[in-house]
Amino acid sequence: MRGTDSRRLPAEYNKSATLPQTGGAAGVAAGLDARRLSEYLNSIMAVRDILIAPDPRLKTVSEPVDRVDDELRALMDDMLETMYAAPGIGLAAIQIGVPVRVIVMDLAHDGDAPEPRFFVNPEILDQSDTLTSYAEGCLSVPEFYEDVERPDTVRVRYLDYDGNPREEEARDLFAVCIQHEMDHLEGVLFVDHLSRLKRASILKKLQKSRRLATAG
Ligand SMILES: [Zn+2]
Repeated sequence: MRGTDSRRLPAEYNKSATLPQTGGAAGVAAGLDARRLSEYLNSIMAVRDILIAPDPRLKTVSEPVDRVDDELRALMDDMLETMYAAPGIGLAAIQIGVPVRVIVMDLAHDGDAPEPRFFVNPEILDQSDTLTSYAEGCLSVPEFYEDVERPDTVRVRYLDYDGNPREEEARDLFAVCIQHEMDHLEGVLFVDHLSRLKRASILKKLQKSRRLATAG
């Protein structure tokens, strides 16, 4: 997800701070000094291409993850790098063409230390009756922002970066973002919540700009 208030990280943000303490790249890299760690991470983490609507792959229903292992953590690391580079505040695996139920997110404010979060097989256990409206954007629907109404609080259960089960209540931007990203796991984009006319107009413009980009 792309936020309305852009949450760009400083160009020289400390990459090591974006990583959890155990497992995956962080586990392997433990013991390296900050500069070596940064070089190491640059060498193994990759910014992937983000699919842009109306790419049909974005309509895929993603599969649950069997287990959280190093391979999955490598995917999550790449997703985080891709999201930061975009820049965005949330990304689902299908947006880089991998149809598994994995989401990364960072809702830290500009200038604050990064707060990467990872959600594997997320489920919504409960949601409020109260709805709230937020101007949503999406890395797969670049440059468009539209109000979408959603429950303002949801209770979510998921596995974290280390495969541990977690349950928490999401409010405000966190609630908006987790619902937006979980939609991706069902092959749903925020434009699917808009009127047919508005959606068609946005997708047409995206297709046109992609054609121009290919031609140029
Ligand atoms: Zn999105």
